[in-house]
Amino acid sequence: MPDLLRTGGPKIIAVANQKGGVGKTTTAINLGAALAEQGNKVLLIDLDPQGNASTGLGIEAEDREHTTYELLLDEVPLDEVILKTDVNGLEIVPATIDLSSADIELIANEKRSYLLHDALRQPAMERFAYDYILIDCPPSLNLLTVNAMVAAHSVMVPLQSEFFALEGLSQLMLTIREVRQSANPNLRIEGIVLTMYDSRNNLSQQVEEDARDNLGDLVFRTIIPRNVRVSEAPSYAMPVLQFDGGSKGSAAYRALAQELMEKNQMAAA
Ligand code: ADP
Ligand code: MG
Repeated sequence: MPDLLRTGGPKIIAVANQKGGVGKTTTAINLGAALAEQGNKVLLIDLDPQGNASTGLGIEAEDREHTTYELLLDEVPLDEVILKTDVNGLEIVPATIDLSSADIELIANEKRSYLLHDALRQPAMERFAYDYILIDCPPSLNLLTVNAMVAAHSVMVPLQSEFFALEGLSQLMLTIREVRQSANPNLRIEGIVLTMYDSRNNLSQQVEEDARDNLGDLVFRTIIPRNVRVSEAPSYAMPVLQFDGGSKGSAAYRALAQELMEKNQMAAA
């Protein structure tokens, strides 16, 4: 099994923030769709028992026969847990509420923090030839999120452009540091993405200023605006890029994908 260093396989990014409603799932879906639109092969791992990423990509509950739960805890062949979506090049391992018990079931497991890491590095994975794997984390710093951070090369943090946005960040950074000190010394911070930004709102501008002052280059240049089309898309079971490709939200996620790809090309060079 390859080690934790990246050796030319997919770039694995955990989309994490223990706050709920900050745009993790929206970012995982739409960044995934935007990367796929650019010709990348992308796998989205739904690691949230709420299964919002699965629903938002149109995976019906009855089609979620095999899920992230099996990927972690049972040896189900990848072919059976990976589903295609209506977006060309974007595939998903869906989640159901079953995953909520995994956090507790994992505690007794000797390899509890490494289950996702090992699942994503099984030899059968190579055949899928993914360029990116995005992990949509639950709104908690639980064992599932730790699994994501151990499996990932980097963490992308959506930050809602709202009061108190930066408050939870130190806790998140602490968890990243702990994972670095134990299971995954090479874990990087891919970047902080400002989401639901309202340029008419002073608060949004204040959060941006604070974030850029405190976190510098860690903050992506691309900002995701608050855009009603983004919030409508999931109820039509599609990414905003498909639902309304000309919307501001779509443009922003395309720009984010571009910025991410450029960053990673520079890192590889
Ligand atoms: P999380 O996964 O962090 O809990 P979500 O991605 O589910 O957060 O987003 C929370 C809510 O905010 C959802 O209803 C979503 O549709 C909405 N939302 C997210 N990003 C935007 C945006 N850029 N513009 C408008 N609404 C958004
Ligand atoms: Mg979510």
